[in-house]
Parts: sequence; C-alpha cells; structure tokens
Amino acid sequence: MKQWVTVLGATGSIGQNTLDVIARHHDRYQVFALTAHSRVDELAQDCIEHQPLYAVVADASSAEKLQQLLLDKANKTEVLWGAEQLEWVASHDQVDQVMAAIVGAAGLLPTLAAARAGKRILLANKEALVMSGQLFMDAVRDNGAQLLPIDSEHNAIFQSLVGCENHQGVQKILLTASGGPFRAATLQELKSVTPAQAVKHPNWSMGQKISVDSATLMNKGLELIEACWLFGVTPKDIEVVVHPESVVHSMVQYVDGSVINQMGNPDMRTPIAYGMAWPERIDAGVPALDFSSIQQLNFEAPRHDVFPALKLAARAFEAGGTAPAIFNAANEVAVSAFLREQISFLSISQLVERCLDAIEIEPAKNLEVILSADQKARKWAQEMIA
Ligand code: NAD
Ligand code: MG
Repeated sequence: MKQWVTVLGATGSIGQNTLDVIARHHDRYQVFALTAHSRVDELAQDCIEHQPLYAVVADASSAEKLQQLLLDKANKTEVLWGAEQLEWVASHDQVDQVMAAIVGAAGLLPTLAAARAGKRILLANKEALVMSGQLFMDAVRDNGAQLLPIDSEHNAIFQSLVGCENHQGVQKILLTASGGPFRAATLQELKSVTPAQAVKHPNWSMGQKISVDSATLMNKGLELIEACWLFGVTPKDIEVVVHPESVVHSMVQYVDGSVINQMGNPDMRTPIAYGMAWPERIDAGVPALDFSSIQQLNFEAPRHDVFPALKLAARAFEAGGTAPAIFNAANEVAVSAFLREQISFLSISQLVERCLDAIEIEPAKNLEVILSADQKARKWAQEMIA
C-alpha cells in the first residue's frame, strides 16, 4: 500500500528535497497535500508534477492565482487557504506521513495537529519542538505518533542509537556543527558582516533563516534544545563539536569507549529518505562518499566567547517553561531584522539575551501560554529594534 504524504512547506529547501525523494519512489509514496506560503508559481509546478489531492496557500488571493494556474493545466488539485487548512491537511485520516518543513513558529500548529492525529512526523521544523517541548512530546506519546528527526544531526544521532533505543550505556551525545561561514572570523570582523555573507553557508544550501542561524550558531542552539527533547537528555549530556567539513553528521559516545557516527555527503535527501522509509532504507539520489577525495576531517571546540548562542540556548532549556519559546521568538524577529539590514549581525544574539532577561518565564502548561510568550517576545524584540 502506498503511503500518503503531506508536505508542509513544500516550496522550501527541505520541501523540494522531499519531493525529489518522493519522485524517485512513486511506487511507495503518493502526495496528499502540498503547502506553501507565497511562492504560488513554484507550488503550481509541484502540483502539476505530483498531483496532490490538496494544495494550501496563505490567503485567498494566492489561492485564486494558484487555482487559475492549475486550471490552465487541467490539474484537479483542490486549492485551500489559511492556517486552519494547514492543520486539516496535516491531520487528515487519509494521511500517513507529514513532512514538517515550514520555517519557524508558523509551523507549530500544523505539526502539533499531526502529532495529535498520531501521524508519522518527519520533523525538520525544529522551532516547533523548541517552542513547545514537553507539550509536543506528550502529544506524540499520547496519540501514538512517530517522531522521526530530519535535521541531519538528529537523524545521525537517531541512526547512531540503533540497537540502543533505551539509551543503556550511552555516555554523551556529540552534536556536530559546521561552524558556519564565520567559523574563524574575529569579533571585529563579525561587526560588519552583511546578510549576503551570512546566508552563504560553506557546505549546505538552505533557506535564508536557517542559514543566518548557522552563521550565529543559533541553529546549533536550537538543535541543542531539539536534541534534549528528542533524546530525553539535558544540555550537560551533549557536547557540541565543530566539524567544518560536515561529513560526520553527529555521534553517540558509549561508556565502553565506542563512538558511533553517521557519515555522508551533506545532502538533506539522506535524512529525509531515512525518515520516510524507516526502518527500511531507500535510494535518496545521494552519491556515496568518496573517501579517496576526502583529504582530512577536522574537529575543534566551539568559540563560546564569539558565539554566545549555545550558552543562551542551554540557559533557555534549563530555565524551562516558556523560556525556549521566548528564545526562539526573539531570534526569529532578530534574524528578519538582520536580513532587512535593520540590525547588525552581533545584535542578533544580544537581542535574544536581553529578551530572555526581560520577559517573564512561565510554566508552559498549555499551548495558549506558549503562544502568548511567543507573542510577548516578538513584540518586545520589535520594539527594541524600532
Ligand atoms: P525555506 O525558507 O527554504 O522554506 C520554508 C517553507 O515554509 C516554504 O515552503 C514557505 O512557503 C513556508 N512558510 C514560510 N512561512 C510560512 C508561514 N507563515 N506559513 C506557512 N508556511 C510558511 O526553509 P528550509 O530551509 O526548507 O527550512 C525549513 C525548516 O527545516 C526550518 O525549520 C529549518 O530550520 C529546518 N531545517 C532545514 C534544513 C535545510 O537544509 N534547509 C536542515 C535542517 C532543518
Ligand atoms: Mg541541522
């Protein structure tokens, strides 16, 4: 039986890689719904190629435009719009798997809807888990959902834990970080870096927001929190290791001295295919590693003095409650202000730290409290920038 897949954020970098994997396996997967925020022309192309039952866009005018583009091609995809429809296509009875690849907090509600509906969730949208932590994990457990990490590091950790699912004998998680485009830059140099420089990641081609997060190491901070929830650990159980080549995607260190890792070319189709087919393996279209051309693999410690993001993330996780949601919201606002050239690169981490200081942290007892903390932090950060 074919698996029905909803791809949230289909027009993004992860969404497109997911469609590439699906296109290689039409015998296994069938697209139930594709969603996009604004890139209607691209979404129309994807609908024509993949023939989903539904397509969801942000608003009525985008829906009208998409409908017209599809009519011109005699395509039968039904076009829907609005945030509620994202939840509907993520939780529909017919759906087996949901690729959560919307960027940022906007992905939380549909991803949570998939968890509550007991789906297999392919989690790329780390911000959703960072914001809602325990609430999200409870929804997964209580509804029998399956949570498969797509973030390459977490996928690598998941793979390195095969056969050791109860974590017996695990000593430490080694979370690798490329270090981003400014790995070796001085504080002085970082003062004047531009958005164009920040989004140029040395190894990965990704959306703008995560590219800036990689440059500030906020991405690794978000991933630290993500790993805590996914693997039931705390920041002290995780060591961040800078590995500029992005060939080792993360590792697990065991008490007997063994270190197990997952390696591969930096191509998101590997973790996507692993998550989709798990526990089986399928062709992802990724060329095998060519060891004769790998000159060397380097590992080094992160520079906490230059990149405060990791310590800030650990602080937010340890503070608990709504702190990670505040951390995430402040970062989202800061990144978009940096991309619009309203604040400097170094101001991103400063703004996040000051927002964590300023906003009262509450127990994250329900979704309303989390969304309200998200809104408060956004408002505070926007006012600071203004
Ligand atoms: P992207 O910017 O390329 O794509 C984002 C997608 O989300 C687009 O389809 C867009 O239409 C949709 N979207 C944006 N705002 C929306 C909104 N308000 N409502 C509904 N949809 C909206 O981003 P990406 O690089 O594909 O990253 C997606 C997620 O995956 C992020 O959470 C990122 O951290 C995570 N991730 C990405 C990579 C990568 O290689 N790109 C790797 C690991 C994790
Ligand atoms: Mg990652």
